[in-house]
Amino acid sequence: MSENEGKICVDLSGQVAVVTGASQGIGKAIALALGKAGAKVACAARSVEKLQETAAEITAAGGTAEVFACDVTDAQAATALVDEVAEKWERVDIVVNNAGITRDTLLPRMSDDEWDAVIQTNLRSVFLLSRAASQVMMRQRYGRIINISSVSGLMGNPGQANYSASKAGVIGFTRTVARELGKRKITVNAICPGFIATEMTDALGPALVDEVKKRVPAKRLGEADEIAQGVLFLASRSADYITGQVLTIDGGMTA
Ligand code: NDP
Repeated sequence: MSENEGKICVDLSGQVAVVTGASQGIGKAIALALGKAGAKVACAARSVEKLQETAAEITAAGGTAEVFACDVTDAQAATALVDEVAEKWERVDIVVNNAGITRDTLLPRMSDDEWDAVIQTNLRSVFLLSRAASQVMMRQRYGRIINISSVSGLMGNPGQANYSASKAGVIGFTRTVARELGKRKITVNAICPGFIATEMTDALGPALVDEVKKRVPAKRLGEADEIAQGVLFLASRSADYITGQVLTIDGGMTA
């Protein structure tokens, strides 16, 4: 079987991508896919050692990657990330806002800190990075902003008032910014993953995962690379006329 079996083939040579939360899970798969497609990839997150593993895998596959230690809840660091990448590689074509956390609990018990941490990580960071990137992309007259939302932002999920609000916020943000930047050849889209097998869903435990599998028409969890394939498409020239959209990749769960 060829390495590209079942994958879309996209050429991103000469392009520069920033991926937040590239240290594991979906973000790592996205960084690898963009790197293998030829983009130079800035791998950002807090865990430097894990980011080095992501970067090493991209390099081993013949790509180019650099590690950027960044806490996306730190406004100054999030803005500086885009500026540093633009300075190093002279452009920023693709930004994938993927970093995210959960702090699940039912509303009556949800603390201020649990609310604030999720909103800051999942929503405010998208604003900070997109604002910084928009300035570079407007100068280039080209860009792709791809925000990782969630089915939880579409349909809600008990125990996730903070998370659902952050992910629904990402969708509203995406639609507005797409309207603002459309004439500059900058597209802004969101992807809503369903349940994808990563450390985030490992935390749910096997009983809940089995329950989820029953509810999903595909009868399985998704793979991180299946989200990365959606990102590749939206980053490609095939998606030039697609902006302000929400691509749900969930095995049919919200159908
Ligand atoms: P993981 O928990 O496996 O990974 C989360 C990533 O986000 C890590 O790389 C982590 O890196 C990074 N991150 C978290 N906080 C920060 C921060 N303050 N600054 C920088 N990076 C941070 O999650 P997934 O891969 O499963 O999820 C990735 C995205 O997909 C998230 O936005 C999530 O909400 C979304 N999603 C996931 C689904 C799933 O089923 N897995 C379903 C729907 C949406 P580090 O700790 O090194 O900083």
